[in-house]
Amino acid sequence: MPENRTPSLPIPMSSPDLTQAERQAVMAVLRTPHLSLGPQLTAFEAAMAERVGVRHAVAVSSGTAGLHLCVRAAGIADGDCVITTPFSFAASANVLLYERAIPVFVDVDPDTGNIDPALVARAAADLAQGGKAARRWLPRKGAEQAGPLKAILAVDVFGQPADYDALAPTAEEHGVPVIEDSCEALGASYEGRTAGTLGDAGVFAFYPNKQMTTGEGGVVVTDRDDWAETARALRNQGRAVGDTWLAHTHLGYNYRMDEMSAALGLAQLTRLDELLAKRDRVAAWYGERLAEIPGVEPPRSADSATRVSWFVYVIRLGAEVDRRALVERLQDRGVPSRPYFSPIHLQPYFVERFGYRPGDFPVTEDLGWRSLALPFSGVMTQAQVDYVCRALQEALRGND
Ligand SMILES: *Cc1c(COP(=O)(O)O)cnc(C)c1O
Repeated sequence: MPENRTPSLPIPMSSPDLTQAERQAVMAVLRTPHLSLGPQLTAFEAAMAERVGVRHAVAVSSGTAGLHLCVRAAGIADGDCVITTPFSFAASANVLLYERAIPVFVDVDPDTGNIDPALVARAAADLAQGGKAARRWLPRKGAEQAGPLKAILAVDVFGQPADYDALAPTAEEHGVPVIEDSCEALGASYEGRTAGTLGDAGVFAFYPNKQMTTGEGGVVVTDRDDWAETARALRNQGRAVGDTWLAHTHLGYNYRMDEMSAALGLAQLTRLDELLAKRDRVAAWYGERLAEIPGVEPPRSADSATRVSWFVYVIRLGAEVDRRALVERLQDRGVPSRPYFSPIHLQPYFVERFGYRPGDFPVTEDLGWRSLALPFSGVMTQAQVDYVCRALQEALRGND
């Protein structure tokens, strides 16, 4: 059957890819009395650990929750410094604020948008030196009580792993762990190694726009027994191994993943290779079509990214393009699009708390102003991709 040339509008920004198998798996849970801390959770964690190739997978209620647990496992607390990136989804920096730590931002690589390891090395050395050297990297405000460097938190932006081999010597030299925010990178690999395993712990997220979904959910993956134990205790109200239901060794949270979500996750994980292949195919369609459109640049990847796991499809606009007008013209044609990312250091609460200003991280800001995410999911049809690209071409032509 030929594909319909004019897809129904509007085209969604993202869509989960669900089948009868997922629906049956969730319904089966509802026929049992086990809705939390049951067999689905155990099975999902075992399957995830096996798939990623780690000793431990600890499923949680969101990617943000998983990152927060890693921050707690690393012992990050009041005033501790953590080097991280301002070009990310806000959650990767927010989890540091939850513990009143100080995010020490460094700028990113202009090609990949990932944290620049050379800047990480310089920032770590200067922080260790203290005084005037350290102040070059600390925010203008809110860092009067800056403590020692406690960790590096890198983000695998848009499904492409950061440069971990270049980050490792800095982490080693300063004796700090690396937390990998791989929430956008399930299925990616770096120099042949699996995303999520490239630091002391990695975190995947399962919001409906991610490579696979559990509705809400996330997972911490690690080979570190101590971190896994902490994550297990803290997600479950601080109950340590051996604690009874009303005994709480630690200050914990309710970050548990319920059984319906775990069952959905297990069914999606079984299909992961298919899900990733479908996303690859859609990205390839975009790549072909966009090559014909002047004024837009397709995503770039580094050679070290031996597999990019397509999370979003983010193009870069030429400096002459008025992005706001373009977004409106696309919207008029039934095509949603989204500026991606809005730099974290310029979010209002970061400006208020730390005194950041435009110009502080120029590469991040340039990427932030020029990037545009197009509709993307594994269930997009070729006709939909063609339609989006035609709309983009027309909308760009209307640009003066
Ligand atoms: C999706 C995402 C998260 C976590 O998101 P949740 O909505 O909490 O699951 C964290 N960091 C990045 C970079 C993300 O894209």
